[in-house]
Amino acid sequence: MKLTVVGMSGSYAGPQSPASCYLVQATDPNGREWSIVLDLGSGAFGALQRHIDPFDVDALAITHLHPDHCSDLSGYYVYYKYHPQWGTEFSDRNPIPVFAPTDAADRFAVAYGLEDGESMDTQFTHVPWKCGSTVTVGPFTIDVHEVNHPVEAYGFRISGPSEHDPSRTVVLGYSGDTDDCQGVRDIARNADVFLCEAAFLEGRDDGIVDLHLTGKRAARIATDSKAKRLILTHIPSWNDPEITRAEARNEYAGETHIAEPGTTYSF
Ligand SMILES: [Zn+2]
Ligand SMILES: [Zn+2]
Repeated sequence: MKLTVVGMSGSYAGPQSPASCYLVQATDPNGREWSIVLDLGSGAFGALQRHIDPFDVDALAITHLHPDHCSDLSGYYVYYKYHPQWGTEFSDRNPIPVFAPTDAADRFAVAYGLEDGESMDTQFTHVPWKCGSTVTVGPFTIDVHEVNHPVEAYGFRISGPSEHDPSRTVVLGYSGDTDDCQGVRDIARNADVFLCEAAFLEGRDDGIVDLHLTGKRAARIATDSKAKRLILTHIPSWNDPEITRAEARNEYAGETHIAEPGTTYSF
């Protein structure tokens, strides 16, 4: 499995990174590479094109409907519909499955400004998440867990073949946006890579509950859940990521990274 950080800026696009977006890829036994995009936040659709042709994406998995996780779907729609060479008005390409919260199709239509009677159905097949369910995309299985955020929000536990030994299954846990809860702990349990948000700072945001994690609390979850590697993400540009890293190092003994835009992690 390969995880490419397309965007890691928390809450809005920053000067060095788009908002949340991750490309996850793995190859099936027939040699076909499959690609899932986790979240498509503000500014992410541009950076995504550095890593993949948007027509080659097999599915989108959206954690929740805050704009820093989904607003660039409008741009994806334009690209898919009107691309002069490959747009779906001119070809028989299938719609891309978009796994997302319940109201996503309506929200995306309003965000783009579709007229009554118009839909994105030719471009996207909307599939609402069902909590506790498992979704299969090529060699991936995605276990969906509800997490602790003010809107309908999910995190994912994604299983797929190892990049180094395809006979072995590895797990990527992605927190989405959350405070500590059972869901994010289930996501992180024994994960090979735990990609976890850390939007808050200790000593500054302690009084705010049910919204985000700090580096310290993300690392505590990683330790308790025995995650093998921790990648901290969703860090707003008003934070110093080195403070987040230092918070985490005091709580978690394993390998710890700050998500780096454009970096690919293979495991
Ligand atoms: Zn967010
Ligand atoms: Zn959010």
